[in-house]
Amino acid sequence: MRGVVSPLVLLAVFGALVLPCAASGKDEAHRPSPRRADAVKVLLVTGGHDHDISFYSVLDGHDDLDVRVDGYPSALRDGPRSPGKGTDVVVLYDMPVAMAPEGEATLRQWVENGGGVVVLHHAIAGRTGWRWWYEEVVGGRYVEAGVGEPVSSYRHDDVVKVQISAAHPVTAGLEPFVIHDETYKDLWISPRVRVLLRTDNPTSDGPVAWISPYPKARVVYVQLGHGREAHLHPSFRRLVGNAVLWAAGRPTVP
Ligand SMILES: [Zn+2]
Repeated sequence: MRGVVSPLVLLAVFGALVLPCAASGKDEAHRPSPRRADAVKVLLVTGGHDHDISFYSVLDGHDDLDVRVDGYPSALRDGPRSPGKGTDVVVLYDMPVAMAPEGEATLRQWVENGGGVVVLHHAIAGRTGWRWWYEEVVGGRYVEAGVGEPVSSYRHDDVVKVQISAAHPVTAGLEPFVIHDETYKDLWISPRVRVLLRTDNPTSDGPVAWISPYPKARVVYVQLGHGREAHLHPSFRRLVGNAVLWAAGRPTVP
């Protein structure tokens, strides 16, 4: 038996090394999420367009947000139909070319029942064949070639100087800022939207965030947010956080 270590001895040594850490509450890798019982329950829908993993950091780590990520089409196939039953707000960072009937039914019932929606960046280039959605709910559409005129365009990695166009809970705490981001031009934008943020960058139409004209639910569109530079920008993070809270009917911090 000489030289052979009993499994019980090994277990005791391992336990002595590991257990005190967990027992003393110093296991920093474990962090209950969210910490607040009244956190806003967010359904974040992705899919149909790639993006940097940094996007998830925009909504991660907030004690007042309880975020669940699901991809299209599963997220909307059996998704929420009215707020307050496990979901308070839907955030769309997806870009489906067309929606399955079940997905359209989910989104239609969600907003008709007063469910708030935050439409982010490339999500305005999805669902573009669903007229009611882009005209009445989002208030804008990216126009693909062969679909209409003029055809929308995009430009990556531009310097975008953003001005505040309206005092609103979604723009609370924001000052004019400069962000390295993608711009869109020649979108169709409803004349009924309320523009919150604007740029004079010539590769943009001007409005880069607006409130939808839809009367039954809180819907906001934020055009910024293509890549890592935007995702890590404090003003973009504040803007999206504000938009989520407002769409959920919660107050934002001035
Ligand atoms: Zn993009």
